[in-house]
Amino acid sequence: MTDDAHTDTDETADTHDTDAQIYYETDADDRLLRDETVAVLGYGSQGHAHAQNLADSGVDVVVGLREASDSRPVAREDGLRVATPAEAAAEADLVSMLVPDTVQPAVYEQIAPELEPGDTLQFAHGFNVHYDQIEPPAEVDVTMVAPKGPGHIVRRDYRRGEGTPGLLAVYRDATGDAHDRALAYAQAIGCTRAGVVETTFREETETDLFGEQAVLCGGVTELIEAGFETLVDAGYSPEMAYFECLNEMKLIVDLLYEGGTTEMWDSVSDTAEYGGLTRGEDVIDDDVRENMETVLEEVQDGTFAREWITEDRAGRPAYGQRRAAAADHEIERVGAELRELFAWSDEKDEETAKREPEADAV
Ligand code: NAD
Ligand code: MG
Repeated sequence: MTDDAHTDTDETADTHDTDAQIYYETDADDRLLRDETVAVLGYGSQGHAHAQNLADSGVDVVVGLREASDSRPVAREDGLRVATPAEAAAEADLVSMLVPDTVQPAVYEQIAPELEPGDTLQFAHGFNVHYDQIEPPAEVDVTMVAPKGPGHIVRRDYRRGEGTPGLLAVYRDATGDAHDRALAYAQAIGCTRAGVVETTFREETETDLFGEQAVLCGGVTELIEAGFETLVDAGYSPEMAYFECLNEMKLIVDLLYEGGTTEMWDSVSDTAEYGGLTRGEDVIDDDVRENMETVLEEVQDGTFAREWITEDRAGRPAYGQRRAAAADHEIERVGAELRELFAWSDEKDEETAKREPEADAV
């Protein structure tokens, strides 16, 4: 990119009250990976996007997949070289671990003998390193480049000449080049076009787990279901409850995403604003905040990680039950019927169909 981008960056840093270190195009040195081979292990959401973006950026890429993997023909179709994880790691200077987090320790066992001093082992999430499920040898750099978006967005943004924001962290700098090499990788997958924020494995892992449990996936779903049940139990129609508590959530979140709480409050009616400002904290009260603290403590002290690892090893019995119960909730039945009846469901189908070949290339 141009030097202008860098100038903008410096201005941003000067005029905004943020301590976060953010890197852009001109901070990265694309020569660092030019003569190297990168092994991308896994070809799912992140794997397919990283592998294709790296290859389009001129990096030599080999995709590491099991002999039996359905992704092998998909990766070959996309013009990439395919090998087993061990073969790919043996060839590579940088190994990017993009198989599911629960599978990573087993895949690491396969590739560990192939890691040489000076190699880099890279992650897109800190879970296994932070919770000591993977302990790489001391002479190997351990880094993280984590795009803040699903793989099909990482690929789509790159193809449009844009980038997905990302996080960068160095867990171990054995070579002295760990940071610069991670930044070169972030550039090659497009992230420095948007901005790459410096973090640590601990911070990324703990904030990510807390966010998805307390606010995003867990918190928001329970909030929606609790609101829906409150209305339905009081005799209101499930259809009305669905629109009010689930469908309209998107409109509000879009406003929050675009302009923060101020823009959201400005856009809703005075009545909604007054009601929300006075009643919101009655719902999310001190008890809820205490519950959030407990959730955070269980993330920090490893309780959650141990529970999830044990659950996964046991064949995920509780996970299966919870999942079935969630799918069985009345809001799901009502929602499926309503989404069929209204026009916006067609838009969604088209969007899903467009990204399916890439997103589901597993
Ligand atoms: P995924 O589930 O989409 O795909 C993983 C791929 O790994 C599969 O497609 C397959 O090719 C391979 N694989 C699956 N099971 C395997 C096995 N038993 N042995 C060997 N290979 C196997 O995974 P993902 O969502 O891309 O996650 C990869 C990493 O990226 C994780 O660390 C995750 O936390 C991180 N991450 C994901 C996202 C996201 O939005 N999906 C965003 C940021 C970071
Ligand atoms: Mg997450």
